[in-house]
Amino acid sequence: FSCRRYIKLKIERGKSMEKNILAQQKAFFHTGKTKALTYRLDALYTLRSLIKENESSIAEALQKDLRKSFFDSFLTEIAVLLEEIKFTIKHVKKWSRPAKVKSSLTTFGSKSMIYPEPYGNTLIIAPWNYPFQLAIAPLIGAIAAGNTAVIKPSELTPHTSRLIAHLIEEHFPAEYITVVEGGVEVSENLLEESWDHIFFTGSVAVGRHIMKAAANHLTPVTLELGGKSPAIIHHDAQINHAAKRLVWGKFLNAGQTCVAPDFVYVHQEIHDKFLKEVTAQIESLYGENAIENTSYTKIVNEKHFKRLSTFLTNGQSYYGGRVDESNHLIEPTILTEINWQDPVMQDEIFGPILPVLCYKELDDVISKINEQPKPLALYLFSDDKKVQQKILQSISFGGGCINDTVMHLSSPHLPFGGVGNSGIGSYHGRASFDAFTHYKSILKQTTKVDFPFRYPSEKSLKLLK
Ligand code: NAD
Repeated sequence: FSCRRYIKLKIERGKSMEKNILAQQKAFFHTGKTKALTYRLDALYTLRSLIKENESSIAEALQKDLRKSFFDSFLTEIAVLLEEIKFTIKHVKKWSRPAKVKSSLTTFGSKSMIYPEPYGNTLIIAPWNYPFQLAIAPLIGAIAAGNTAVIKPSELTPHTSRLIAHLIEEHFPAEYITVVEGGVEVSENLLEESWDHIFFTGSVAVGRHIMKAAANHLTPVTLELGGKSPAIIHHDAQINHAAKRLVWGKFLNAGQTCVAPDFVYVHQEIHDKFLKEVTAQIESLYGENAIENTSYTKIVNEKHFKRLSTFLTNGQSYYGGRVDESNHLIEPTILTEINWQDPVMQDEIFGPILPVLCYKELDDVISKINEQPKPLALYLFSDDKKVQQKILQSISFGGGCINDTVMHLSSPHLPFGGVGNSGIGSYHGRASFDAFTHYKSILKQTTKVDFPFRYPSEKSLKLLK
């Protein structure tokens, strides 16, 4: 066997395996079992107990993959999911009801109904930054709406990927929900198949690739992507709250959060005072040497560590900048004297480096942000209602917070997603059910009479006019 022949054989074997899984799931979906409310509820209860009973194994895998602390794992990966499942269990019956809507003059005599129906066989591709939560959160929507699902976790967090595969295999039949582990090649094989919906969370570049692959089968997609999310600290902001919430949102998971504030614009009047408070808050959260704090997350791998390290020399280092290369750790770092031409301002940072820009006029900030691709999130710190309205009305972004960071994504009442470059579609709560549902519109016409409006005649035309 030549090496090339072996690799080709492996790919072919992979492809036939993926075909087989989908064929099994197609057959299972057509039995209609996944559509029954009791079946969906049972699956949601199973998912809930699977998470509750394995909290410590989940946290252990996350610790191995990313050095996440138990607190962070519990807050951002486990508690969010349990809340989402609870909310879905409570509302899924109501969401599943066919809705009666009005009929129009041209459909006079009929009844109009909208029937929610599952797309069918769905594919979920997940990233590595919240590797458990981001693989399971879409699954809640897929189950609630009555679909089957194949999950492809990230290969960069192998312990979590293995655990997800093991837990799903233990609790669900493969023809209903299964996990396919692996990297880009496995993902590409899966994308060759004809899915009824693809739910992807990851980078903008790969998002484009997913959409192209989906186009071959005209498969609808939900794309949860990233981007450079700004934070704006206006002169009336409560400095201590703003600094504390900004530091928490930025350095949580060492900045490897899709909605982390990527950079911050601070009004010149409060710039120096704000930076001092940011420093104090970093030290209050992580101590004077975050790298030695075992609750501080590491950078996922060497490639990302090297990519981020090159940003450390941009502008002036106001705080931080130390690294521990062997453990892939980068201290919370504040960069000042940054301009838009610097490499750190070209792409999403996705790490614990915060460029701080200074502004005098809010209009200049708005124009600069509007020149960039539409961000996934935006955070404004100001109690001034006029300033709040101005920002909300003049900048397009996925979602965000006023006087906070990141927390908007933890509410099942708020649909979460991007716009433009930062994504297509949304999920969480009702939006997750909708993301995996086709709404089938049905007109039930009466057979008792046959109204003449539609048939061509002078009289019909007059009536319709
Ligand atoms: P990524 O796009 O590199 O990978 C995501 C998934 O796609 C992985 O499972 C990977 O195996 C697969 N993949 C990679 N290349 C592929 C290809 N060519 N074809 C098919 N599949 C491929 O993203 P990542 O590095 O894992 O995650 C970081 C990115 O995800 C950041 O940009 C971040 O902002 C974004 N993100 C977005 C959200 C959100 O909810 N909007 C959440 C988390 C992360």
